[in-house]
Amino acid sequence: MKVLVINCGSSSLKYQLIDMTNERVMAKGLVERIGIEGSVLKHEIEGKDKVLIQQPMENHKVALSLVLDALVDEKHGAIKDMSEIAAVGHRVVHGGEKFSGSVIINDEVIKALEECIDLAPLHNPPNLMGITACKELMPNVPMVGVFDTAFHQTMPKSSYIYPLPYELYEKYGIRKYGFHGTSHRYVSQRAAEILGRDIKNLKIVTCHLGNGASLAAINGGKSVDTSMGFTPLEGLAMGTRSGDIDPAIVTFIMEKENLDIEGMNNLLNKKSGVLGISGVSSDFRDIEAAAKEGNERAQLALDKFNIRVKKYIAAYAAVMGGVDVVVFTAGLGENSPSNREEICKGLEFMGIQIDPAKNNVRGKETIISTDEAKVKVLVVPTNEELMIARDTQELLK
Ligand code: ADP
Repeated sequence: MKVLVINCGSSSLKYQLIDMTNERVMAKGLVERIGIEGSVLKHEIEGKDKVLIQQPMENHKVALSLVLDALVDEKHGAIKDMSEIAAVGHRVVHGGEKFSGSVIINDEVIKALEECIDLAPLHNPPNLMGITACKELMPNVPMVGVFDTAFHQTMPKSSYIYPLPYELYEKYGIRKYGFHGTSHRYVSQRAAEILGRDIKNLKIVTCHLGNGASLAAINGGKSVDTSMGFTPLEGLAMGTRSGDIDPAIVTFIMEKENLDIEGMNNLLNKKSGVLGISGVSSDFRDIEAAAKEGNERAQLALDKFNIRVKKYIAAYAAVMGGVDVVVFTAGLGENSPSNREEICKGLEFMGIQIDPAKNNVRGKETIISTDEAKVKVLVVPTNEELMIARDTQELLK
């Protein structure tokens, strides 16, 4: 079975065609600048050169149609005919409280997703555009929706309720939903496999540290807490997002800086985090380089990022009554030995101890804790696309 995995952003479309007989990626690519000048499709086939296709793409349907053309192209295609695509798996950011697992997409599901737009105004509309485009261009191919929020639907109410007037939860669905669920699910399952343990008997803290970053407490394979909240703004200090702050700061800044709602949202989502503190960049590579050259604010940004991850690890161990495994994943988690070392430093009291030689790895599945350490610490590169393809295959069996 060949599954096309699609992840649509407001002006982008990422895709992978995966052959599920061996879970091999046959082709993958990215369309950028959809609906803006300079639209481009970067298409990659296993073992062949990258192809760049530059032409105006006014919407996601046009972009997807070019992707499908590229997939069956005689020269740089991966399949002979569109009919080889047995199913499409869509990444959907927000499933609200309705979806606690992946689902086959039908009209009812599309309606439910439209009802979730309020909860994810930036993410769900482009996800829906991708679904509509597929429906129009490949009407007979079944589709599955895989939600970022679904994995966290197992959180107990005490984790997801906010200490706000309870009516606001009932009226607007204001609660913690959590994100990156597909990634947390994949790396926790993979970590259990690598360790040869049954996930049902493990307490795992997964650290997804990318541009957007979140931690999850996973007890017996189920998410019981996570650091992102009602939106992906809560929790860690991220590339450009503030994460946890005193909520009173919001109205204070709005008043002092004369900011409206949009201006404040922009400040918290786009100008804060490690970019805000360092003033250098949102990219950790730039910040690490600046810190090495003695830039104090860059170092401060790194320190703030790391201490917060450390605090969440310890908090989640407390939530679960212990921790057996800590997993690092995503851009920074997979590629930055120095951040992993800083985060784990000082957690020896709870059995976390990293071996510096083993920790000197990038983008590879490895155990980085010392042999004697009580807690196993692992690096596991995430693979959300594979998880989406697996769910798609499973549901259509
Ligand atoms: P997202 O999918 O949220 O955009 P990624 O998971 O791709 O993010 O992670 C991007 C982040 O990972 C960037 O801030 C980048 O600096 C960081 N990163 C990637 N490679 C390295 C590296 N070798 N060292 C330090 N940070 C890295």
